[in-house]
Amino acid sequence: MPETIVALATPPGVGGIAVVRLSGEEALAVAAKVFFPRNAAKKVENAKGYTALYGQFVENGRPLDEGVALFFRAPHSYTGEDVAELSCHGGPVVAQSLIDACIAAGARPAGPGEYTRRAFLNGRIDLTQAEAVMGLIGAAGRQGAALARTALEGALAKRIGGFKQQLVALAGHLAAWVDFPEEDVPALEPAALNAVLEEVENGLEDLIRNFGAGAVLRQGVDAAIVGSPNVGKSTLLNLLAGFDRAIVTPIAGTTRDVVEQAVMLGGVRVNLRDTAGLRDTGDVVEAEGVRRSRRALEEAGLILAVFDGSLPVAEEDRQLAAACAGRPAIAIVNKSDLPQKFDPAAIAGSFAQVVTLAAGRGEGAQALGEAVRRVLGVADLDPSAPCLVSQRQYAAACQARDALAEAKGALAGGFGLDAVSVCLDDALAALCRLSGEDASDAVVEEVFSTFCVGK
Ligand code: GDP
Repeated sequence: MPETIVALATPPGVGGIAVVRLSGEEALAVAAKVFFPRNAAKKVENAKGYTALYGQFVENGRPLDEGVALFFRAPHSYTGEDVAELSCHGGPVVAQSLIDACIAAGARPAGPGEYTRRAFLNGRIDLTQAEAVMGLIGAAGRQGAALARTALEGALAKRIGGFKQQLVALAGHLAAWVDFPEEDVPALEPAALNAVLEEVENGLEDLIRNFGAGAVLRQGVDAAIVGSPNVGKSTLLNLLAGFDRAIVTPIAGTTRDVVEQAVMLGGVRVNLRDTAGLRDTGDVVEAEGVRRSRRALEEAGLILAVFDGSLPVAEEDRQLAAACAGRPAIAIVNKSDLPQKFDPAAIAGSFAQVVTLAAGRGEGAQALGEAVRRVLGVADLDPSAPCLVSQRQYAAACQARDALAEAKGALAGGFGLDAVSVCLDDALAALCRLSGEDASDAVVEEVFSTFCVGK
């Protein structure tokens, strides 16, 4: 019998209310030792599921606080076990004293992710949903949270379940046909077989393609602001940050080190790195800054290359454009308030997007945000569509897709239905791994060890 566990379910620190959560067979018995209903006729042990009682929390026989206890009865709770949620006043002392009281009454502290793990083990959620809980807790932006919520609601589980059903039907048919030749099992038309394999393969391909964009929404992206000195990189950083983060002067080479600032741009958390500018210099300190700029450019998941619209295209500009070719890079032609001498067509071929703006006038942040969404592929991402939320899920989806591609290859190459059937089994095994149906202890351990305690 799993022990009854206790942990703080709300974030630590000062707040209006703190919730201490008990889960396990003894949850209500433990609650009864630390919580006494105001109405003495009510008994905690007899509380029905989905009911609340008002009363007093007690530690070592001394009153601790007043609050509300909420009860859930197995299997209708988050963990699938009996659960009591004790809401006391926020603040580390009261909540910790209440946890201590619960431990003295027979509960033990929960390990990281143990509530969600129990929910998984009790069949309340599948592994994709368990990972979504973690995604929701760690989401960097509103849209990232929406994606995780979709997964939590089981959209991914349903989609994967649908794929599995299609493949299981095929595998069953193939097995019957191969193993029982004397029965009158109709042969599978290769075209029909291929159509199903392709449909599932394409479905997986969609999930795989959107994984990068989903990760950007959940975790944000590191971006480098690069460009020649004085084009307005620091001004742009300050505009996006909403305050003067970097020093702006008309003197070229003012920014000598990398300045970092996280901003929300087009709904994406962008960790901006303003760099020293790429130019040949004899100044040792600035040369080190230029070296760091190059590194920031190489490591960035997004490049904002700034050009001065009031100057003609220079050799440095062409070099920067060449360095950005094939990268997720946006050309920003700045200083649009001045007479324009810059010909964007000279560099546009190296960039996914070109945006003209006047950072000095505080103009263009919105247009830039839209360009960021398009370049990172998040513009078309539907937050209510299923989405892979972890590297583990991504790897399993890729394995399933590859196995289906092999199955199609075997079919087209005339290798016989046995060979197709083997590949099909591999694809099914990968999909089961994805949803955690045959999750080995190691997989389960990996997923749950990254959780926060109390979740
Ligand atoms: P950095 O060296 O690339 O970081 O450039 P700064 O941000 O320090 O800006 C260099 C100069 O250009 C400063 O004098 C800014 O005020 C000016 N500047 C920046 N953006 C604009 C703009 O949109 N229009 C105009 N007219 N001047 C700008």
